[in-house]
This record gives sequence, structure tokens and C-alpha cells, in this order.
Amino acid sequence: MKRSFIREILEAIDEETISFAGGLPSEKLFPAEDIKIATLKAMENPKIYQYGISNGINELRTQIAARYTKEGFPTTKDNVLITTGSQQAMYILAKYFEDKDITIEEPSYLGAMNIFRLNHLKMEGVKLENDGVNVEAFENSFKNTKLTYLIPDFQNPSATTYSDEKREKIADIIKKYDGILIEDSPYGELFFDKKNVSMSSKLPKNSFHLGSFSKTLVPSLRIGWIRADEELLKSLMIIKESIDLHSCGISQYILTEYLKDEKKYEKHLQDIRDDYEKKANFFSEQLNLIMPEFKHEKPKGGMFLYGTFGDGIDTFALVQECLKKKVVYVPGNQFYIDKIPNGEIRFNYTHSTFEQIEKGIKLIKSCL
Ligand code: PMP
Repeated sequence: MKRSFIREILEAIDEETISFAGGLPSEKLFPAEDIKIATLKAMENPKIYQYGISNGINELRTQIAARYTKEGFPTTKDNVLITTGSQQAMYILAKYFEDKDITIEEPSYLGAMNIFRLNHLKMEGVKLENDGVNVEAFENSFKNTKLTYLIPDFQNPSATTYSDEKREKIADIIKKYDGILIEDSPYGELFFDKKNVSMSSKLPKNSFHLGSFSKTLVPSLRIGWIRADEELLKSLMIIKESIDLHSCGISQYILTEYLKDEKKYEKHLQDIRDDYEKKANFFSEQLNLIMPEFKHEKPKGGMFLYGTFGDGIDTFALVQECLKKKVVYVPGNQFYIDKIPNGEIRFNYTHSTFEQIEKGIKLIKSCL
């Protein structure tokens, strides 16, 4: 195994470097004042300092469940397990499915691929098209693995979002083979146009739906969750207990306080969507203006813009040059199982200022 290129890059770069590499939310959108108020309120509750139950505090699980139910996916707190970020949710699931074969999208989330390797899952990649995985290739792989990890909303890295039609087709295949879906959706709320219907809602008995507050509120609280059928969730408890007994109680009580004011949270989500949409549009415009040889689609949500120069360019080699000029991105080959160099790049557009976006793209162009 190798460490994640992204985490290593984040450690290596200095303050001056323009980074399009990490999946960092915009700092100016953290609701710091409201989190402070929620924290002070939460601190008055003596329970905040005590050990808690492994599946998470009831109030927070109930709040999360209510959001699913409101969206038409009936859910109670017994369907929700709180985890230490959705990263831990994936770790728990990978441990549970240790040694199995798993169908994944290619490209896919680097952090998940590393967890799968660590737990000896054998990954089979299926090519992503611009409206989701290729359905035929998916069925060919899934009929053998009967287990899949998908990111259908504004995927990391490719920003791809599944069409309604593909969501139906993929869910039907999972049902046909009575397999399991792990649906990872940390970006589902960051839509510019409309919220998508989760694939898991079509497969309530055969799915694990992963959520997180990292991209919608603050990542440092490290709170995510798994939504699943009650019986399926029970089978994960021994793993969760073995890892950390329970996720941080202080973080959970702070979130519970914050989420009590639903309207405030909704407004905050809308502010993020508005800001990110402007950034995504600007990033795409600047690319077209400064570096038109980089082919891409304008994102419809999430935090990433993905595209390619075509096969003639090795973006892994290019990033070494870019580093010297103090600009960095993630080369696309990092998101593939075999990591063979290619012409693809993932850009994060949420963390940089408009000036940094323009300057950074000009620097990359000069290295090109
Ligand atoms: N899944 C995906 C697709 C991600 O992009 C990330 C974060 N980059 C995670 C899971 C993990 O997020 P967290 O642990 O902060 O919830």
C-alpha cells in the first residue's frame, strides 16, 4: 500500500502554493458563530462529558432519520449508526466485507480504495460515463461480486451525477442478484439545481447509505453516519465498538444543538450551494479561456471539476513541474486501481479565491 497522494501533498505544500488538490470546503462558509453558540449550549448538558452508547446519541440519530423521512425514505433512529466521519463508515463496512470482491466506479474515491486494499477486498473497476457507470459492464461485474461501492451524487473525483434512469437500472441489477449497495453521498446536499433521489431508497433492505457533516457543516467535528436496515446495522456494531466504543460525544451534542434550528441549517446549505456554484462557473470559464485544451463539463454540484487533456499528456509528470511553480492539483491516475498515468485532472474549486483560481490556471498553462 501507498499513502494517499492527496494527504502527502497537503503536508508538503507551503502557504504560498495555490492548492486545487485537497477536498477542502471553503473556510469562509463555516458557520463559526452558530457552532460557538451550539457548543456553549451543549456544554451545559452534563451528559456531554460521559461515555455514550456505540450507535450514537439518540437525539442526533433521530434528527438524521427525520431528514431521510422528509425526503421520502422512511427512516427511524434505529436505522442510523453514527460514525467518526464517513471515512470510518467505509472502514467498518470494509472490515465487515473483508476479503470479498467489490465492484467500484473508475475513477473512484482514493480514500475508499485504500480502505478496500487494507481490508483485502478485491476491486473490479467499471468505467464511469457522464451519467453514471456503464450499465452492461456493471452487471457483468456485479453478478459475480454482489457487492458495490458507488458515489452517485457529484462524485469524487469526476463530479459525475447519475441520471434518474441509471439510478433505476443499477438498483434493478442489485435487486436482481440480491446483492449489496454501499452508497456514499457526502456531496448529495451540495446540488446547484435539484436534489437527487438516493439509490438506497429503492433498495431499503440491500443498502448502506453513507452521509457526513464534513462538507455541509465542518469536517473537524468528524461526524458521519450509516443509514441501513436495522438488522444489517446490528451486524456492524461489533466492529464499531471494537474501533472506538463510540464517536466523539462532544461533537455529537454540538451538532444536535445546531440542528435544532432546521431553518438555519437549510439557509446555511443554500449559502454553500450559491457560493460553490459561482466558483464552479468561474473555474470552468477560466479553464475555457486560459487552457481550452483541457476538456471538461461544468459541475452541477459538489466540490470538484474533472476533465482531461487527452492521452498525449501525463498529468502526473505535469504536477511535478506545477509544484515548482507553486500550484497543485490531483492527477487523474491516482483515482484508478492500476494508477497508469493519463491526461486527467481533478480540480477542487471550493477552497481557492477567484484570484487564486485565475492565477493557478495560468501557472498550470505555463507548465504545460
Ligand atoms: N467519501 C467521499 C467520496 C469523500 O470525498 C470523502 C472526503 N473527501 C469521504 C467519504 C470522507 O469524509 P468524512 O470522513 O470527512 O465524512
